[in-house]
Amino acid sequence: MERTAAITTEPGGQDEPAGAPSGSRDSSGEPDVRLSGVRKSYGDVVAVGGIDLEIGRGEFFTLLGPSGSGKTTTLRMIAGFEEPDVGTDELAGRDVTGIPPYDREVNTVFQDYALFPHMTVGENVEYGLRVKRVSKDERRRRSAEALEMVRLSGYEARKPSELSGGQRQRVALARAIVNRPRVLLLDEPLGALDLKLREQMQVELKGIQGDVRITFIYVTHDQDEALTMSDRIAVFNDGRVEQVGRPADVYEQPANDFVTGFVGASNLLERDGVRITVRPEKIRLLEDGDDGSGLHTERGVIRDVAYAGMVTRYLVDLEAGGEVLVVRQNLETSSTEALEQRGRQVTVGWRPEHSVAVTEQTRRENPQ
Ligand code: ADP
Ligand code: MG
Repeated sequence: MERTAAITTEPGGQDEPAGAPSGSRDSSGEPDVRLSGVRKSYGDVVAVGGIDLEIGRGEFFTLLGPSGSGKTTTLRMIAGFEEPDVGTDELAGRDVTGIPPYDREVNTVFQDYALFPHMTVGENVEYGLRVKRVSKDERRRRSAEALEMVRLSGYEARKPSELSGGQRQRVALARAIVNRPRVLLLDEPLGALDLKLREQMQVELKGIQGDVRITFIYVTHDQDEALTMSDRIAVFNDGRVEQVGRPADVYEQPANDFVTGFVGASNLLERDGVRITVRPEKIRLLEDGDDGSGLHTERGVIRDVAYAGMVTRYLVDLEAGGEVLVVRQNLETSSTEALEQRGRQVTVGWRPEHSVAVTEQTRRENPQ
């Protein structure tokens, strides 16, 4: 799937500086979640090295980063399964540091679903309410409502083994939302599904979140998933947050070279002593006779071509140094025509405003 960041840009989205914490507050003026100076180590391993985050009421907020960057540890501290060594954890303005998970208005959906195999779908969904001694009538009503929200009405009597992976994921979701938590934590919930189903569930999950209006904190290492689903994204790296922003902010105005490379093809170039990046879809391959006016143009040679159906990706070595990935829609190009381009001399061009200066990621020492 190609990136859709551009179409998620909101009008007025330029007002806020990228990286500033934002998101709506509740009537008390407090965000749903606030982490302040949170650190967590396991022995010598610094899992989370000092982060600050504010997540607003009803936001779809994503923790995005490579494996081992501290996403799950952060989520577990919000849930109360782990306590920070340093720092505080607030939910809706209340300091919950040291408060156990069952006393927090949060629920977690795990990737392995964690459904009880011997219980029916209905029993699974009602389980949390039964533990809380909610009356049978109300249990039935709320479970039916939750199952309707995840489009599984009529599946009450089935066993988890009689469901597909996507349906099991939806039961896990119903089981969490039936408790009406203030915040729902989801740790790579679609990781076990194949690509087609995952893309379908991304759309469904986003729709369900819009319906239930619960704050979602979503963990993924998949940048496309994060760009597609999120109101805002925190980009994690090595136990730190590199940037917080709307999908279009982190994609189009990456804060440093790490974010540039993780949330897309890095396309880093050094020109006149400045490091810049240009996203692949912003670069044009100019034919002889094409009008390059208004564009910054450079000469190069196509080193490699990858035909991918909807688009073709060209890797171009530039005379002025460096290489860029160029993505072009296959409007008229056939696969043969695309592949024949290998080795050709070309001119590439982009509008000056589409190149973004990128700072080098500052190397920080891990705090003890
Ligand atoms: P992510 O979810 O981004 O993959 P994690 O938060 O799971 O990252 O892990 C961050 C770092 O902390 C990793 O280096 C991981 O090995 C380490 N870590 C996480 N949990 C534990 C644990 N219970 N014991 C020891 N090390 C851990
Ligand atoms: Mg994880």
